[in-house]
Amino acid sequence: MRIERVELFLLRLPLRTPYETSGSVETHQTRVIARVEAEGAVGWGESVAPELPWYSSETPVTVWYALEEIMLPRLLASDLARPEDVDERLAWVRGHHMAKATVEMAVWDCFANAAGVPLAKLLGGTRDRILCGVAIGLHPTTEALLERIERELADGYLRVKLKIKPGMDTAIAEAVRRRYPDLPFMLDANSAYALADAAVFERIDATRPTMIEQPLAHDDLVDHAELQRRIRTPICLDESIESAEHARKAIAIGATKVVNIKAGRVGGHNASKRVHDVCAASGVPVWCGGMLEMGIGRAHNVHLASLPNFSLPGDVAASKRYFDREIIGEPFVVEPDGTMRVPTGPGIGVTVLEDEIRRLALRTSELRPGGAP
Ligand code: MG
Repeated sequence: MRIERVELFLLRLPLRTPYETSGSVETHQTRVIARVEAEGAVGWGESVAPELPWYSSETPVTVWYALEEIMLPRLLASDLARPEDVDERLAWVRGHHMAKATVEMAVWDCFANAAGVPLAKLLGGTRDRILCGVAIGLHPTTEALLERIERELADGYLRVKLKIKPGMDTAIAEAVRRRYPDLPFMLDANSAYALADAAVFERIDATRPTMIEQPLAHDDLVDHAELQRRIRTPICLDESIESAEHARKAIAIGATKVVNIKAGRVGGHNASKRVHDVCAASGVPVWCGGMLEMGIGRAHNVHLASLPNFSLPGDVAASKRYFDREIIGEPFVVEPDGTMRVPTGPGIGVTVLEDEIRRLALRTSELRPGGAP
């Protein structure tokens, strides 16, 4: 398949409510959207790089640069036999995983559309519904957080994930466990602690969370292994796992018992499948993380989460939680049983509101083979 044309769009949409983590407070999401055209088929991808580099080093500006200057000119010059070829052609590029994922996932959508099959089928998915949890940001008071949890549970989510940071951690876990003796809840620190803070997690242990996500440094494995030896609660790594090799090493030294897979973080669907397979081979379950995606990124997550080892509820929640304005025609909803249907149409299986994207775009670019970017 020869890619004949790629268009990039920069979108900035307000979030319905601000989202606070240990690293940032986000009120908007700024996303690079890619539209790939090849031999009559079209595919869409969405970058998940936040506006500021608090989660990883990438931002929409670096994504735009890496796509326009480095990745797209090379992909436009090559013939792709299968979607996995994108990963191979760009394997020499260090980092820029979110940029790579943006075009790689658009190419997967393009191949699935050309074949007339749902993306989930092309990826090897086995589920027709995925398990949904919800991630809840930091709230100013515990009472406000408990109210928010109540509203989310009423919407059907199977588990809640709560952000923590130093000073807002044990009190949250203890209050939630007091209010909900049996609720599966987990905590996400986004790398806000050091091994010297182990006592915090030993205290959290008593509240029986299902797991603690990325307590220590974003690039650490060794200290996570040491912390895991000291606590019962399973550690789940997010930021530290940027590749299947990282997953293999983390599992080997006991640094993680669960892995959060985000396609943007690891470089796309093919890289996600490799992480998924490495974890499956070691009996380590995975779940699909979220980056407050707009509709295109959300659709990709739903298809990815249909793979068999995504056996725990992920952070792929209903579209309505995030934006008033949508860029797809069929927003994702959570069923009363806490699941979400995997679309059955070709590709990502939702209608991309192309006119809306063109109208809202703050910046656009069009690339063709041989053309200067
Ligand atoms: Mg996380």
